[in-house]
Amino acid sequence: MDNDLKYMKEAYRQAQKALAIDEVPVGAVIVKDGQIIARGYNQREKKQQVTKHAELIAIEKACRQLGSWRLDDCDLYVTLEPCIMCSGALLNARIRRVIYGASVKRWFAFRMLMQQASPEQFNHQIEYVGGVMKEECSEMLSHYFREKRKKAKIEK
Ligand SMILES: [Zn+2]
Repeated sequence: MDNDLKYMKEAYRQAQKALAIDEVPVGAVIVKDGQIIARGYNQREKKQQVTKHAELIAIEKACRQLGSWRLDDCDLYVTLEPCIMCSGALLNARIRRVIYGASVKRWFAFRMLMQQASPEQFNHQIEYVGGVMKEECSEMLSHYFREKRKKAKIEK
C-alpha cells in the first residue's frame, strides 16, 4: 500500500477519536523512519485550549519522544489542511513533509502560506501534498457540521 495512504488512514483514525468526543474531527500523526512516533486529535473543546489542535498535540509528543524541538526528518499527516497557527509551528519545527487530506477553502491556511511566501522569507521549506483521502476526510467534517446544525435547530 502507498505509504501516504497508510499513514493518512492512521490520521483518519485519530480524527474519529475527536468525532467520538464531539470535537471538530481532525487527526494527525508524525512519522519518522517509517515509524509513527506521535499521534494527536483535536481537543480544543475538551481542554478549552485554542492550541489543542491535532497537529500541535502531535508535535509536542514528537518533540518529547525525540528530546528535540527539531523534527527535520519527520513527516506530518493530517486529515485537514493545517491552519496558520499550526503552519507556523510546522515551519519552526523544520518538519520535512506535510501530507493533508481535506483542503481549507474559506480561510488563509497552509497552502496559501506556502505559495505566497518566497523561499527567502522562510529559513525552511516544507514539501507538501494535499488531497490524500480527501473524500473521506471532507465527508467526516461535513457530517460533523451537519449534525451540529441539526442539533442547534432542535435546541431552538
Ligand atoms: Zn491548527
